[in-house]
Amino acid sequence: TSSNSTPTIKQVKLEKECELRIEVSDSPLRLRLLNGNAEIFGTELPPEIWLNFPPRLKFAVFTWYGATIEMDGTPETGYTADETPMVSYVNVHAILEGRRDRAKKSPSDDSVLSQGPRVIVVGPSDSGKTTLSRMLLSWAAKQGWKPTFVDLDIGQGSITVPGCIAATPIEMPIDPVEGIPLEMPLVYFYGHTSPSNNVELYKVLVKELAGILERQFAGNAESRAAGMVLNTMGWIEGLGYDMLLHAIRTFKANVVLVLGQEKLCSLLRDVLKGEPKVDVVKLQRSGGVVSRPVKFRQRSRSNRIREYFYGLTNDLSPHSNISNFGDLFVYRVGGGPQAPRSALPIGAEPAADPTRVVAVNINRDLLHAVLAVSFAKEPDEIISSNVAGFIYVTDIDIQRKKITYLTPSAGELPSKYLILGTLTWLET
Ligand code: ATP
Ligand code: MN
Repeated sequence: TSSNSTPTIKQVKLEKECELRIEVSDSPLRLRLLNGNAEIFGTELPPEIWLNFPPRLKFAVFTWYGATIEMDGTPETGYTADETPMVSYVNVHAILEGRRDRAKKSPSDDSVLSQGPRVIVVGPSDSGKTTLSRMLLSWAAKQGWKPTFVDLDIGQGSITVPGCIAATPIEMPIDPVEGIPLEMPLVYFYGHTSPSNNVELYKVLVKELAGILERQFAGNAESRAAGMVLNTMGWIEGLGYDMLLHAIRTFKANVVLVLGQEKLCSLLRDVLKGEPKVDVVKLQRSGGVVSRPVKFRQRSRSNRIREYFYGLTNDLSPHSNISNFGDLFVYRVGGGPQAPRSALPIGAEPAADPTRVVAVNINRDLLHAVLAVSFAKEPDEIISSNVAGFIYVTDIDIQRKKITYLTPSAGELPSKYLILGTLTWLET
């Protein structure tokens, strides 16, 4: 046999309640379930079918009762762990199921009793928040619920591109490779990947999203009973803590799951003590959670934007468009020219209004920007409107006053109002 036919297929036997933790290297990896049952972050593996995992993905194959896995390729890291917090996670799921059942059986005109659990997952960076959110959603979807996933993490973008907060119903267990299908989620554009850029705007958008979901739930007993799972950012100190508390209260979360941090847990317990029926539950962080350095996060963000336009496997063909400067109206939120001191009452300091909508002239600065297409019908509706999607600016021709940009598909933009933040992308 020649050297290039060296078999790379290997079998891994997993005992009950163990998991195989994998970090895919720079070359892809295939894996399949040979026998038994196993799941990836709450989604069951189909028997015998090979699944392809892209480079650098980090995940675990967990089994409740034992399984044999076949793996083709050499991962960067691959080891079996017999200590996981999965039993405690699934116990939380069982309690949530009980609450969903109770909500479903309650008269739908009782807005309190018919409300299923509103779970918010909090904790420091790399504590496994997004992973736990996915598990809880996938387990619920497997039992036939359609819980709403709310992603408040502007840094990662589990539902759409980074720089947004978004919500979508989860109707099926989440695909371990493809993630959440990009089907018409409810999206508000913040425009930055760092929450400190405009804390006030973030809070306003959280309020908008919570408000619209509240209205949707009012008319939909099924999704109301299924409840929601909110994923949050790892910023838990200072302003980050304020933003967390603001999100907990604005969404009326009644279950707060705190991953791996005593201090945050006791702080939240104390401050939420007076508030009606909020359970603050401390959960152990999984030893399998992998820390991701800044560079890795930047690359994931960039990949996420690429995926929006080109698809996960380059299966989409974005459309290149050319418009006249005068046909598009670009706005940004916050900052802007301050009122001249002379126009203010004596002693007052000029302050930039963080939620002021400011018109932006199209110029070279927009090159490589990712802008949101607002559903607003008037500029003053921009903050309170969700967005239809995104465009990516590929050329600015100052002389001819033409702007070239990518859209995910051909056709007219649903609106001429665009929102500019600091979100950019360099196509590589
Ligand atoms: P952030 O604060 O950045 O949002 P997070 O708290 O949401 O991080 P996750 O994204 O859930 O953390 O986990 C970090 C990484 O670890 C992810 O790539 C995830 O796939 C991986 N991971 C989580 N749990 C496991 C596990 N048990 N085995 C292997 N990898 C895991
Ligand atoms: Mn996360």
